Amino acid sequence: EVRVRYAPSPTGLQHIGGVRTALFNYFFARANSGKFILRVEDTDRERYSDESLQDLYDTLAWLGIAWDEGPIVGGPCGPYIQSERFDLYRSYAEQLVRDGKAYYCYCTPERLEAVRLKQQEEKSEVQGYDRHCRNLSEAERAEYEMQGIKPVIRLKVPTDGKTTFHDVLMGDITRRNRDVSPDPILLKSDGFPTYHLANVIDDHLMGITHIMRAQEWIPSGPLHILLYEAFGWEPPMYCHLPMVMGKDGQKLSKRHGSTSVRDFKEKGYLPEALMNYVSMVGWSYDGQREFFSKQDLEQVFSLEKINKAPGVFDYKKLDWFNGQYIRQKSDEELLALLLPYMTKAGFVSAPLSSDQESMLLNLTKVVKERLKVLGDVVDLTRFLFEEPTYEDVNLFAAKGVELAVAVSALDRAFEILKQGFEAGESHATTEQKLTDLAGEMGLKVNGVFMPLRVALTGSTVSLPLFDSIGLLGQEVTCARIENALA
Ligand code: GLU
Repeated sequence: EVRVRYAPSPTGLQHIGGVRTALFNYFFARANSGKFILRVEDTDRERYSDESLQDLYDTLAWLGIAWDEGPIVGGPCGPYIQSERFDLYRSYAEQLVRDGKAYYCYCTPERLEAVRLKQQEEKSEVQGYDRHCRNLSEAERAEYEMQGIKPVIRLKVPTDGKTTFHDVLMGDITRRNRDVSPDPILLKSDGFPTYHLANVIDDHLMGITHIMRAQEWIPSGPLHILLYEAFGWEPPMYCHLPMVMGKDGQKLSKRHGSTSVRDFKEKGYLPEALMNYVSMVGWSYDGQREFFSKQDLEQVFSLEKINKAPGVFDYKKLDWFNGQYIRQKSDEELLALLLPYMTKAGFVSAPLSSDQESMLLNLTKVVKERLKVLGDVVDLTRFLFEEPTYEDVNLFAAKGVELAVAVSALDRAFEILKQGFEAGESHATTEQKLTDLAGEMGLKVNGVFMPLRVALTGSTVSLPLFDSIGLLGQEVTCARIENALA
C-alpha cells in the first residue's frame, strides 16, 4: 500500500512551494488508492508558532485537502505531532548508542567553537565536529557524567566507504561517507531530537513508502540512508521535487510577489484555480491539457510526469487561470464570493434589501468578465457606492480637447441621454447618437464619452459606459451629470 506524507514545520505561513509538495503527495496517494498522512514537524520549538500551525490547517481545509491520518483525525501511527513523540525519539537514540551506532558527546559549546576556529585557521579540509567523544573510555565517560554534563547523542558516520540513495527523478546520488557531516547530533542535550532523527524514525514507524519533498533536502539524503542502515530499516523511495522559481530563475520568494497561500486567498484567488495552477508547476499530463479539477488530478497524477527541470511560477498565468475559474461560477455563486470584499470596503452591509440584491446580481454579471481576482471588484465598482468628487476638472477633457469644449459635449450628451431614457431607446441607438454628436462637434468619440465617464464614475477608466449607467440607474445617472455640470 502506498503511504505518503506531508511533513511541514510550522515555522511560518504555508507557501506555494510547500503547498505544491502537499498536493503532489495527496494526489499521488489518491491515484494509487494509498494513504495521505499529515505530520507536524515541530521539533524546533524556537521557531514554532501556533499561528503557523493554524495556518497549515486552514490552508489545507481551504484547498479541500483532507488527510487520512494526522493531527485532529488521528490514526494507527499517532500521535502525528512530533513534540508529542519526544520519549520515543529518545529511546530510539539510546538504542543506537547501545548498538554501537551512536555515542554520547559531552563537548561544551566553547570546545566546539574552539575546534571550529582552529579548522578555519588551518584552512583544514575537515569541517565540523572532530569526533572527540566517539571513542571515549568508560572512565572518561563516567568522569563527564560526574561533572553533571548533559550529553548529546551523535551518529557514528562511517569514515570510509560511500552511501548511495536512489531518487526516482534524479537517479542514484552517491556521496563519500567522509563528506557526510561528521557525526551529526541526533538528540540534543535537552532531550529534543533533531530534524534528521525524528524524520527518519517517523517515516519508518508510519510506514511511509514514498518521500516526496523539496529538492533542498537532497543533501540530507545520504545521512538519512545512514540512519536507516544504523537502525537496520529499509529506506523508502525518494522523489525530490524540482524547485519552484520565479520567472527570473531565482527560487520563488517574496521578491517575486505573494508566496503565502493566505495572501492569495485574501486577494481573491479561488482554491480550485490555485490548486490547478500550482499542480502544473513542474508536472504535466501530456504537455497540452492544463485544466484539471481536484477529482481529475486524484486520478491522473503520476510521478513519471514530474518535470526534472525547476518549475516556473508565473503570476500572470495564475491570474489567467483564476479568471477562467471565476467565469465558470454562476452569478449567484460569484456574488456570494464577492460580497465579503464589498462588505469589507464598506460598500454594502447585511442584511441586503431585495433591490440591493438584484442590483448586486447585475453588478456581478457586468464584472464577471473583467475580474482577475475577486478583490478587483472593489476598484471596479467603487463608483457605485461612493459619490465622485470631481476634484480634478481636467479629467473631463479627453486628450487634445479643451475643457470648455468637453463641458459643452457633456451638456449636449446629457440631453441625448435624457431623451433616450424618456423614449426608452436601446443602448445601441443612444450610443449611435452620441457618436454622431462627436462627429458633429469635430471630436473623436472619446471627446464625448470621456466627460460622461468621468461625470458618472469620477474616473477616466471604468466599466463600459452603458453598463455603468445600467448599474447606477437613470436617476443617479442624471443627478451625477447635473452635479458635474454645476
Ligand atoms: N519538516 C521538513 C520541512 O519542513 C520536512 C522535510 C521532509 O519532508 O522530509 O520541509
